[in-house]
Parts: sequence; structure tokens; C-alpha cells
Amino acid sequence: MLIDLHTHSYCSDGTDSPAELIRRAQAASLDVLALTDHDTSDGWHEAGQAATGTDLRLIPGMELSCRHGRAGVHLLAYLLDPGYPPLAAELDAIRDSRANRLPAMLAGLRDVGIDITVADVARVSTAASSMGRPHIADALVGLGVVRDRDEAFDRYLGWGRPGWVPRYGADLTEMIGHVRQAGGVSVIAHPWGRGSQRTLTADVFADLAVAGLTGIEVNHLDHDATQREQLRSIASDIGLVVTGGSDYHGTGKIDHPLACETTDPEQLERLLAAVP
Ligand code: AMP
Ligand code: ZN
Ligand code: FE
Ligand code: FE
Repeated sequence: MLIDLHTHSYCSDGTDSPAELIRRAQAASLDVLALTDHDTSDGWHEAGQAATGTDLRLIPGMELSCRHGRAGVHLLAYLLDPGYPPLAAELDAIRDSRANRLPAMLAGLRDVGIDITVADVARVSTAASSMGRPHIADALVGLGVVRDRDEAFDRYLGWGRPGWVPRYGADLTEMIGHVRQAGGVSVIAHPWGRGSQRTLTADVFADLAVAGLTGIEVNHLDHDATQREQLRSIASDIGLVVTGGSDYHGTGKIDHPLACETTDPEQLERLLAAVP
């Protein structure tokens, strides 16, 4: 039983259409796949149609852009109603902020001599309802400024770089509550990836569990063996479910193939049993 609970399509910053993603999931012999685009459910319908009548079970999800204190935290949410008004309002605010920061980011890039326009970014993000830095990275690749997304983040788009501009993120604790009210379950994505280990301590996880959090994504390529062991022990102390996923982005993120990280079947059962 192969279960991958974290993937992206071109509705956010992946490169496959939702239907292509389903075909690739079948080719990878997955039994269960969650589509978790950043801050949008726009891929659900197409993915659902492509999965209908196949042996693949599709779990509709999202990866929500949140904030805890000053740190950005990604929250995976599954089986939620995206139309639940408080949640829908947050999704609108996040996507607006994603789009509205673009001119300032491009101005920062032009300040260091890169000739890039909104049209260059629009060309590489036509299918995206939720636009992000990876699209600007793709535009920079298209202009021949950098070789790939990684180089674009390292030189231009990462924190403190010329194209970096902050954007809105929903309050993490509030969002966990919204997801529950919207009929879903939530899991903190890659909690200790990219230097957020200091923010999300065992005490914070305990508070988030009280707020309605169901799980922690432990099996993720951003975590090393020691971090996984520590996160597993925190999850077990608090009674949180342990999940895993590839964070597949198509050709947008190399070395994250589908099913490279997975969720244990018993843990998926616990996650689904927590659906309110
Ligand atoms: P944003 O939410 O628009 O600020 O962009 C963040 C997204 O960019 C993350 O969710 C990743 O998918 C992607 N990302 C972050 N760092 C990198 C990197 N070094 N290389 C490629 N993609 C990245
Ligand atoms: Zn992404
Ligand atoms: Fe993420
Ligand atoms: Fe992701």
C-alpha cells in the first residue's frame, strides 16, 4: 500500500496538470494520492475526474500558507470544504497577497539589472490560480538569467535577496480551527525543514494539538534521520498522527519524485478517523 499525501500540480507551482499528476501517480504504483496545491482547490475537479474509475484513491487537499509568530509555516489540510466562508476569505487574502507582491519583486530584480516584466512571469504561470516565487524563478530561467529554480532562489528570491518581498500568511492556530470547522483535518508540513526547528517546539505542537491539529509530516526530504526520530517521539507523546509525502512539483523541484516519501497505512487510517 503506497500512500503519498503531499503533491503539487500547475494550479500552484507544480508543472503537471492535475490529470497528468493522476497518470503519473498510477505509473508510480501509488494506491493513495493527495493533491495539495498551495492555497487553492482549483485542481480537485480535474484530478477527481482523472481518478474516477481507477484503483487510485484521491484525497483532496491543500497546503496553506500560514504564520506562527514571525515564521512562515505550511499547513497541509485534507477533505475540507474550501467554500467555508472564514477559510475562503483567508485563501483570497493569501492569493491576493501572492499576486500583489509581484510588482515589488520585479522592481527589486530590475534594481540589480535584470530586465524582467509581469508578462515574462504571466507566460510561465498561465494555469496557476496561486502564483508564487517559483513562477518568477521559471521566468528567470526563461530569460537565461539562471539555470534552474534552485539558483533563482539562492541568488534572487530567497529571504533577503533582491527579489524577496514578504507576503501575507494566515495565523496558524486560527487556520487549524478553520480547517476543522470546514470539515477537514490538518497536518503541519515539513515542520523542521528550512530552519524552522526553533519555532515549532514540542510545547508549540502540544498547543496546536489542543487547537485541533491532527498530524505532523515527518517523512519529508527536508528532514534528516535525527529530526525524524525526534518528531516521531513528539508526535507519539502528544498523540499526533505521523504522515509523509514527496512534495512532488513535477520538473519544478528536482529529486522529489512521487512516492519518494510515504505515509504508513495505519497512520492514514488514524488521519481519516479524525475527520470531524
Ligand atoms: P512562495 O510561497 O511564493 O513564497 O514560494 C515558496 C515556494 O517556493 C515553496 O513552497 C516551494 O515550493 C518553493 N521553493 C522554496 N525554496 C525553493 C528552492 N530553493 N528551490 C525551488 N523551489 C523552492
Ligand atoms: Zn510549492
Ligand atoms: Fe511547503
Ligand atoms: Fe509543498
